[in-house]
Amino acid sequence: MGRPGSDATSNPQAPYVSGRFTSAGNGPVPPPVIHYWDWQLRAACRGVDPNIFFAPDGETRNDRERRQRVAKSICQDCPVRQLCLNHAHAVGETYGVWGGYTELERSPRNRRGGSP
Ligand code: SF4
Repeated sequence: MGRPGSDATSNPQAPYVSGRFTSAGNGPVPPPVIHYWDWQLRAACRGVDPNIFFAPDGETRNDRERRQRVAKSICQDCPVRQLCLNHAHAVGETYGVWGGYTELERSPRNRRGGSP
């Protein structure tokens, strides 16, 4: 195994696929190297209010469903949707809409969102 990120130029998802960062002692989150995060620069949600993607305290069911519909509509045509979803699965994002899927849809029990 090479050093973390050594094959990053050939496959930006490599750290997620290999799970190498899980053995770093600080979880599966990639290091603060721009290469691992630059997909976010192409995100359709850039500049969008993050409250659309994450539930505020005390959100009602109707409000949540409405908010999630808006978030999913933004994700639908996002050019980095699959990378976003891969990231959410890889680091175990437990909150928010990522890759067009809610936290409930991404949960291991439901595991929808394998491919958007
Ligand atoms: S898939 Fe959705 S949450 Fe992910 S980067 Fe694109 S717009 Fe943002």
